[in-house]
Amino acid sequence: MELNEALQQLETLQKKMYAYNTALSSLYLDSVTTAPGDTAEGRGVAMGILAGESQKLMTDPSVGNLLEFLSAHSQELTFSQKRQTEELKRDYDQLTRIPADEYMEYTMLTNEASDVWHKAKETDDFELFRPVLEKLVEFNKKFAGYYDSTKKPYDALLNEYERGTDMEYLDRFFGTVREKLVPLIHAVGQAPQIDDSFLHRHYPIEAQKKFSDYLMEVLGLDRNHCTIGETEHPFTLEFNNQDVRITTNYMENNVTSSMYSVIHEGGHAKYELGIRDDLQYTRLAGGVSMGVHESQSRFYENLIGRSRPFIEAIFPKMQEFFPEQLSDVTAEQMYRAVNRVEPSLIRTEADELTYCLHVMIRYEIEKQLIGGTLAVKDIPAVWNRLYEEYLGVKVPNDREGCLQDSHWSGGSFGYFPSYALGSAYGAQMLRNMEQDMDVWGPVSRGDLTGISAWLKEKIHQYGSLLEPADVIKNACGEFDPTVYTDYLTDKYTELYLKR
Ligand code: ZN
Repeated sequence: MELNEALQQLETLQKKMYAYNTALSSLYLDSVTTAPGDTAEGRGVAMGILAGESQKLMTDPSVGNLLEFLSAHSQELTFSQKRQTEELKRDYDQLTRIPADEYMEYTMLTNEASDVWHKAKETDDFELFRPVLEKLVEFNKKFAGYYDSTKKPYDALLNEYERGTDMEYLDRFFGTVREKLVPLIHAVGQAPQIDDSFLHRHYPIEAQKKFSDYLMEVLGLDRNHCTIGETEHPFTLEFNNQDVRITTNYMENNVTSSMYSVIHEGGHAKYELGIRDDLQYTRLAGGVSMGVHESQSRFYENLIGRSRPFIEAIFPKMQEFFPEQLSDVTAEQMYRAVNRVEPSLIRTEADELTYCLHVMIRYEIEKQLIGGTLAVKDIPAVWNRLYEEYLGVKVPNDREGCLQDSHWSGGSFGYFPSYALGSAYGAQMLRNMEQDMDVWGPVSRGDLTGISAWLKEKIHQYGSLLEPADVIKNACGEFDPTVYTDYLTDKYTELYLKR
C-alpha cells in the first residue's frame, strides 16, 4: 500500500464514521424532543441497523491492516494524522479484543440490568437488583483484563473513562477532598442556613424561556450554531463545530434549576464549538474526555455562574424578566441563595460544596467492588455508613441510596470520578486564568468574551488532538487538588462561617 492511498482511506473511514454518528445522533435527538410517543419501534429498527453497520465498518480486518500500516509509518505522518491513527487503533483494539460471544452476552445482560434496576429502584428492592449487579461486576473485572492486563482491574477501567488516571491519582485527590471538605461541610451544617425561599416562587415558563435566551447571549452562544430545546434530562449533543444542540428542563417553582442547566450545558457547547476546523470529520473532533468536558461545564456553571460578580452582573436583567418574583430581593441575597449548601441524598441535586463527596462515596465502593474486597450484598450498608460519615445524612431507603444512579446498571464502573475531577480541574484553570488576565472585571459587567478566548486557546481548539493529561497540564500546570479544596474553603467560609 502507498502512504497516500492509506491516508485517503483513513479520511474516508473517519468521514463514514462521522456520517453514521450524525445519523444516530439525529435519530436520538428526535426521539427525546419532537417524535410522537408511540414511535420508538420503527426508529429502533433503523438505529439498530445503523449501529450494526458502524460497528462492522470499524471492526473490519481491513481497518486493522490500515491502522497497522499507518502505525508502522508514523514517522511520515503529521501530528494530527498520527493521533487519528492512535485513537482509531485504540477503538479498533477495544472493539475486537473482547470475544464476540462474551460481548453479546454482556450486551444482553446490560439490557436486562437496565429493566431490573428500574424496577428495583421503583420498589426500593436492592435484593432484586443484586444478582444482576453481581454478574455485571464479574464481567467488568474480566473485561478489565482485556483492556489492559498489566494494570489492576479497577485501574484498567478508570483508564477507559479518563485516560491517565488510576487509583493512586484518585486516592491522592479524594484523600485531600476528605481531609479538607468533610470538616468544612460539618461546620457549615452547624451555621445558620441561607434563605432561598424566593427561588421557589412561581416563575412562568414563558418568562424562563426568555431568560434562557438572555443567558445564551451572555455565554456568547451563536444561535445560528447552537439551539436550545427542552427535555426531561438536560444534555448537550454535538454534530460538529458548527452545529451543537443543548437542552434544559423548566420547573415553574424553581428558577435556578433551568438557569444552571443552561449555563452547564452551555459550557459543554462552548467546548464543542471551539474545536479547530481541521479536526472536523476526524476521530479527533469532539471533547477529549468526560473529565475535561465536565471541567468546562462546571467552570461556567459554578466558578463563573455562581460567583458574586456574575450574579451582580445579571441580576438587574433577572429582575426585568421576573419583576414580581424578585422585586424584594437583592443581588447579594440571590448570590447567597444560589450557593446554599444542603447535604442531601441525591447526587444530581447536590450543591457545589457537597457534590464531590457523593462521587467520593461511589469511588470508594467501586474500588472495593472491583478489587474484590467488598461483596455486592454489602453495598447498601457501606453506602449508608459513608453518607452518614461524610455528609451527615441518614439514608432512609435504597431508592434514595445505592439504587439512585443508572451507571452501574449500564455496566459503567470507573465513570463517576471524572465528574469530581472536572470540578477540581476547573478551579485550577481559574487560578491560572487569573494570572493571565483580569477575569472578574469583565465578568462583573457580564462580559465573558475573555474567558471564552482563554478556554478556547488552552483547551477547546484541540478537541482530542492532545491526550487528556496534556490538555490538563496545558491549562492547569501540575494537578494539585488543594487548589480546588482551598477555593471551596474560602468561598463557603465567607458565605457561612464569617457572619
Ligand atoms: Zn455535564
